[in-house]
Amino acid sequence: MCAERRPIEAVRQWRFDRIARRCQPVGAAELARPAVVLAPHYDDETLGCGGTILLKRRHGAAVSLVFMTDGSTSHAAMTRPELLARVRRREGREAARRLGIPADDVTCLEYPDGRLHEFTAAAAEQVAELLRDVRPAAIYAPWRSDGHPDHDATFAIAVRARELAGIDAATWEYPVWAWNVWPWMRGPTPWPPSRAAARDCARFWARTARSSLARSPGPVFTHAVDIRDVVAGKEAALAAHRSQTSRLRPGWPVLADVGGGTFLPCFFRGRELFRQAAPAPSRPAISQRSLTGGRA
Ligand SMILES: [Zn+2]
Repeated sequence: MCAERRPIEAVRQWRFDRIARRCQPVGAAELARPAVVLAPHYDDETLGCGGTILLKRRHGAAVSLVFMTDGSTSHAAMTRPELLARVRRREGREAARRLGIPADDVTCLEYPDGRLHEFTAAAAEQVAELLRDVRPAAIYAPWRSDGHPDHDATFAIAVRARELAGIDAATWEYPVWAWNVWPWMRGPTPWPPSRAAARDCARFWARTARSSLARSPGPVFTHAVDIRDVVAGKEAALAAHRSQTSRLRPGWPVLADVGGGTFLPCFFRGRELFRQAAPAPSRPAISQRSLTGGRA
């Protein structure tokens, strides 16, 4: 994986390792438990918990994967949305295969990319039906404060679907876009000066100021999965998302461009971090304030 060849990357790794060491390590018994993974977009499953999925499959756990949206807007200015949706669905299925998930255990709900929040009720019903069917011990969904509308909607759908299904499954929250804050990522450069560059910069630093991941991420995460044995498999699964990882034509943005190359290394630091909420469907959700000490 690309990474900044600078001391700052070593500092990030050191800080990450410190956070991971404070988390509870996830052992074989937990890895062997069946799971449903909810991915807002094609690639989130691999970025956020691809190593964990590989290890679960290695431990014999059944893993069902649900892609929530059609992924049609990642390159909206460069290609037709319906074509991109078709390509990304194919890539998502290939990534699932590389993660060891049988084709029958992959569901593509194909809600409009960027507008999942408009369909939370219907999506929760569909996910609940799957949960009743497979009765997982764990549901994986983006961290509740991930900060992308489709990711936040997916967390809300996971909570609602678990209530509807009435099952005792723990929710494991994984970060993806939450890493997009200082010091984990480099901020945008306001050069050459433009209104758009200034706006991007202002947003990045405003996000950083609000983020508990930027300041005190310790309490955010509860569990760490050591993925060092399966990093190559995770990289292979990510590579299946060619439209996101390969420059299909000049100027085609890829994940390796995000944050000047500082985004992808966030998912390859040797461990995947999770917040695990206790299985208590009828209990009121833990407030964001209590999670972050009121800082986020
Ligand atoms: Zn996403």
